[in-house]
Amino acid sequence: MTSAITPPASPVRTRFAPSPTGFLHLGGARTALFAWAYARHFGGTFILRIEDTDLERSTPEAVQAILDGMAWLGLTPDEGPFYQMQHMDRYREVIASMLAAGTAYHCYSTPAEVDAMRERARAKGEKPRYDGTWRPEPGKALPAVPADRKPVVRFKSPQGGTTSWTDMVKGTISFDNTELDDLVIARPDGTPTYNFCVVVDDWDMRITHVLRGDDHVNNTPRQITILRALGAPVPEYGHVPMILGPDGEKLSKRHGAVSVMEYDHDGYQPEAMINYLARLGWSHGDDELFTREQLVSWFDPQHLSKSAAQWDPKKLNWVSAHYIKHTDDALLAQQIAPRITGRGGDIAKVDLLQVVKLLKDRAETLEQLAEGAMLFCGEFIQPAEELVTLHLTETARNALRDFAVQAGDIAWTREAISALIKTVLATHTLKMPQLAIPLRVAVAGSTHTPAIDAVLEILGKQTVLARLADI
Ligand code: GLU
Repeated sequence: MTSAITPPASPVRTRFAPSPTGFLHLGGARTALFAWAYARHFGGTFILRIEDTDLERSTPEAVQAILDGMAWLGLTPDEGPFYQMQHMDRYREVIASMLAAGTAYHCYSTPAEVDAMRERARAKGEKPRYDGTWRPEPGKALPAVPADRKPVVRFKSPQGGTTSWTDMVKGTISFDNTELDDLVIARPDGTPTYNFCVVVDDWDMRITHVLRGDDHVNNTPRQITILRALGAPVPEYGHVPMILGPDGEKLSKRHGAVSVMEYDHDGYQPEAMINYLARLGWSHGDDELFTREQLVSWFDPQHLSKSAAQWDPKKLNWVSAHYIKHTDDALLAQQIAPRITGRGGDIAKVDLLQVVKLLKDRAETLEQLAEGAMLFCGEFIQPAEELVTLHLTETARNALRDFAVQAGDIAWTREAISALIKTVLATHTLKMPQLAIPLRVAVAGSTHTPAIDAVLEILGKQTVLARLADI
């Protein structure tokens, strides 16, 4: 399928730029997915950049969690991961060049002085801002440099006019330049600030398209003005609305899992997650189920939604059930084996392929599938006393004994077992539930199991006869 939009002239380069302050959360994973899909759609390059300059909040565990989450989802970067902390020299070099070019300047105002400036502006009913005391202008005399005070570096932001861009998601967005203030790009100790690092990296990494959360909309005009001052190309921007919880509030821990790896833990397959996340804020007609390849071939940012998406656990389960149903049996068996072992089950007891075949149509997650498989792989749990009294009546026991005697002689296939059940029903003039439920209680310890003939077949003749002998 060809793209609905004109392919960009230069090779597409997108990036996912998480700050490693926590897990890879659902919103981040979705942004990464969109940036990845966009690059893949145009045969471009997807870059992973770890924005780790906030030393107090960044942790190596969070970096690892992000890498794990991306790997689990199969969002493999073509370049990176790069780490901003490793680019410090480059940021300093660009700051020095801006100071030399006059697009940035030293500002010696103390934080208290800047607060006072903001207060004065507020008192006049204006937007609180730095008043430009140290901003050099032709013919303007600057104050004397205070001794022993380290300056910050401020960007000499354009005054007057507007900064606008055509957002890939939201359409035209415009900011009045008077709102932008002269941003601090380096602190008194020379360390660069957040927006500045983003700008330098987007420039150096030749990023052509920035897809990110719409909490960054306010940063974009600042980044654009700095890029322009540097003579750097300005990428296209697309700001994706946030994900809301089912109650319409911002998605948070309250709504359940927020880290993608929790979904791995809970038994969702990465492909199901990719499908579900893609639909969360992006559409291709009415298609709800599609492969990763289809997503790549269809991905058009014009179909990213302008409004916030709502997390819907029921729909995720529906998507997940579809993927489980369509996963190859052998692969499913492989996927659930460690989950069964983790529950203390023994996968050698049965043919796991048969178990998977029997259960896969009803499971929403790998965890449910593994839980269901415990009927075959786990220890036999004796039926509760009430079940025995209620279902293993004298009539039922007689029928069960008859079943056991004749079972010794039949080929142990589902068909033969089903035929034997019918014979016993006829002999004892019982209806199906009058034998099927006692059989379940006797061999599975519960009244609820999948089709009893299939359950008996998988359990194996020996096990079934041993359990029936015990009643
Ligand atoms: N590091 C930012 C974050 O995690 C993203 C920056 C960007 O995409 O420009 O929110």
